[in-house]
Amino acid sequence: MDRERLEAGIEGIRHLLSHLHGEVTTLEESYSQVLLVLRRLESACDIDDLTKLLRRKAFFGKWNALLDECRKLGESCGMILVDIDHFKKINDTLGHPAGDEVIKRVSGILKKFESPACAVGRYGGEEFAMAVRGSEAEILGIAELVRKTTEQDCAEWKCTVSVGVAAAAVTGYDADKTLKSADEALYSAKNGGRNQVVYA
Ligand code: GH3
Ligand code: MG
Ligand code: MG
Repeated sequence: MDRERLEAGIEGIRHLLSHLHGEVTTLEESYSQVLLVLRRLESACDIDDLTKLLRRKAFFGKWNALLDECRKLGESCGMILVDIDHFKKINDTLGHPAGDEVIKRVSGILKKFESPACAVGRYGGEEFAMAVRGSEAEILGIAELVRKTTEQDCAEWKCTVSVGVAAAAVTGYDADKTLKSADEALYSAKNGGRNQVVYA
């Protein structure tokens, strides 16, 4: 009699364990699904609606990661800042929706350069940043191509961009210093008459 009760007890425990196993599996599956949704939401938050480019915070995350990697490997990289010329005038004369179209067109040009070696972000309203892994000549080549393509593809609005470039090696791979150099170069490009690339 005791043996029968013991076996029945063990059977009960086995049943309970198999039920618990099922519950744990279901919980694990739900947890994975929640994580997947969270990851999708997270990456959707990284992208700017109008331009489909990286938002500022996500872009600078990539910029810092690129700097760290290049510093360790002794490779070169740099920052390109792109600012639409006299953009306020486009808004004022053609209206805000036309201004948005121009921003989208310029973003489309920049987006084509996105690759594992090049992150592109919307830095401000009509200002963009590119974090590029490559030699000084390669980075300057991209900057000039961006300027030239904008001049051609935005001809209907007579829209151009000014571009500031800085190499990270020059500033000891310091994120803020390189950004500041690129910003100063951009300022020089504006003062020099716009529609030009200036290397810091
Ligand atoms: P500069 O050549 O010196 O860069 O002159 P600018 O007119 O391009 O620069 P400024 O900073 O004076 O004006 C930028 C304008 O961009 C002001 C702001 O209202 C406009 N802007 C910012 N974000 C957006 C946007 O998402 N859409 C539109 N249509 N306009 C925007
Ligand atoms: Mg501008
Ligand atoms: Mg600006």
